[in-house]
Amino acid sequence: MNILVINAGSSSLKYQLMDPETGSVSAKGLCERIYIDGRLNHNANGKKVVKDIPMPTHSEAIAAVLDILVDPVDGVIASTDEIDAVGHRVLHGGMEFFDSCIIDDAVIAAIEKCIPLGPLHNPANLMGIRACQAVMPATPQVAVFDTAFHMTMPPKAYRYAIPTEYYKNDSIRRYGFHGTSHKYVTKRAIELMGTKDIKIVNCHLGNGSSLSAVSDGKCQDTSMGLTPLAGVPMGTRSGDLDAAVAQFIMNKYGMSADECLNMLNKKSGVLALSGISSDFRDIENGADEGNQDCTLALDKFAYEVRKYIGSYAAALGGLDCLVFTAGVGENSGSMRSRICEGLEFLGVKIDPEKNKVRGKEVVISTDDSKVKVWIIPTNEELMIAQDTAELVKAAN
Ligand code: AMP
Repeated sequence: MNILVINAGSSSLKYQLMDPETGSVSAKGLCERIYIDGRLNHNANGKKVVKDIPMPTHSEAIAAVLDILVDPVDGVIASTDEIDAVGHRVLHGGMEFFDSCIIDDAVIAAIEKCIPLGPLHNPANLMGIRACQAVMPATPQVAVFDTAFHMTMPPKAYRYAIPTEYYKNDSIRRYGFHGTSHKYVTKRAIELMGTKDIKIVNCHLGNGSSLSAVSDGKCQDTSMGLTPLAGVPMGTRSGDLDAAVAQFIMNKYGMSADECLNMLNKKSGVLALSGISSDFRDIENGADEGNQDCTLALDKFAYEVRKYIGSYAAALGGLDCLVFTAGVGENSGSMRSRICEGLEFLGVKIDPEKNKVRGKEVVISTDDSKVKVWIIPTNEELMIAQDTAELVKAAN
């Protein structure tokens, strides 16, 4: 089966053509500068191709992707009929979507209804969907939501302790994000551990970071909230914050709510603490060279992640499996050991030798560690392709 996975942003569109069973990717790439001028970056047959192609809208970007996929030289399929289905990443499913689903008019209307919750991403995701529908009307399209995996949370986890009218009238609650990644690593952890009957804490640590608490394969809690700003500090996001801090800063510096939120989303996190970069590699190098601000940024990040792990172990009533994924989680042994330092009381024991591994699916805990600690490289595109294939097969 060939599944085309699409992740449409406001001025970009990422794609992968993959086999959902083997996970093998025959072509992938990125359309960028949509609405500005348009550039296609395409990787296939071991070769990288860059083409400037006018992309006044997402439709021309999708058309350019389909053209190059069937191109006699740079393509990988003879005709677009060989694409069995398209899987779209959609940021916010609000309270409308608990799982991935085949796209029809009602689904499009429900994604539109979620725009107030995902004002930047959902319109772009919809443009990607509509563009695909226009150029390949007979091919099934599936929506895979970043929020869906977390919809099994109980009300005590997802409700905020603010007046109920905001929940009832405006759907203000915790949703959580990175759901496709949390779903993928949960699925793999269950396969690797050989049982669903386990308590898992997943740490998706990248430029954006989030944790999830999972039992019986279902999400019980997650660290991001109504928006991706909540939880642990991130590359440029503050993470959890006393809301009165925002009020103080807005009053004192005459900032609007939007300006303040922009500062908390784009100028905070480890970028603000380190004073040099949002990239953990730069910060680790800075700390190695003796920069105290960098050391503080790493300590703060590790401390907050450790606190979440501890609180989720308490929420789940135990812990069997701790998973590290995404850029930092998969690659930074020093961050993993910084986080796990002090978690011995929970039964977490990291093996320093095994922890040297990067980007591979391996256990990094000692043989006698009560909690199995795994690195599981995430694969959101594969998860989207698998959900898409499953739904399309079930519909036929
Ligand atoms: P992601 O958002 O999942 O792509 O992750 C991006 C983050 O992973 C960036 O902050 C990178 O600095 C970080 N990262 C990637 N490789 C490493 C590494 N070897 N050591 C530390 N951080 C890394």
